[in-house]
Amino acid sequence: MDEQEDDLGREHLAFASGMTMEEVVRSTVRASGDAMMAQVRREAMAARLRVRGHGGTITAMDRMWMRQAIDLAGRCPPSDGAFSVGAVLVDASGQKLACGYSREDDPHVHAEESALGKLNPADARLTGSALYTTLEPCSQRKSRPVTCTEHILRTQISRVIIAWREPSLLVADCVGVETLRADGVIVDELPDWADAAHAVNAHLLGLPQSDKT
Ligand SMILES: [Zn+2]
Repeated sequence: MDEQEDDLGREHLAFASGMTMEEVVRSTVRASGDAMMAQVRREAMAARLRVRGHGGTITAMDRMWMRQAIDLAGRCPPSDGAFSVGAVLVDASGQKLACGYSREDDPHVHAEESALGKLNPADARLTGSALYTTLEPCSQRKSRPVTCTEHILRTQISRVIIAWREPSLLVADCVGVETLRADGVIVDELPDWADAAHAVNAHLLGLPQSDKT
């Protein structure tokens, strides 16, 4: 109700500022879409906080899933302009739900997006689930409007485990980890897997490349 009143207030102000009817309608639709997404994020955050997994404790299972994510990163079609990343999504009982990798089925899809795209965001199995990804989820991207961080925040994933943070190379400052933590997602880092995650991106990072083809 309050949001509707806000919209009416915004509409009134918009007319007063000389916007056309079409501009007012477009901005009101955008505002109500934003309000709906904010509500989805609020509900997901509340659910995450109710079902918080462990944080800061790295288990043998964590390492096993990260190894699978690293293997998936090795399957990415090569690119000179985007990282190769692997992602595995695991439910609260330790069952694998989905996995994905960069450019898996189209040239722009990211690993986390590909894994999440295989499930309905409202799937109950996502509650308390964990996402293992070899690289920090993006917080800005050129190819699509919705970032992987935002995709994660629209679900009830409670924990994200990464091997390395995105360097200031393709985007100036990735704040995926900070944004996820601010919304109640536990983020754990496995820095001892960073070298393995770097290996498939050696050509982008200016690192010596392996002889393997
Ligand atoms: Zn991404």
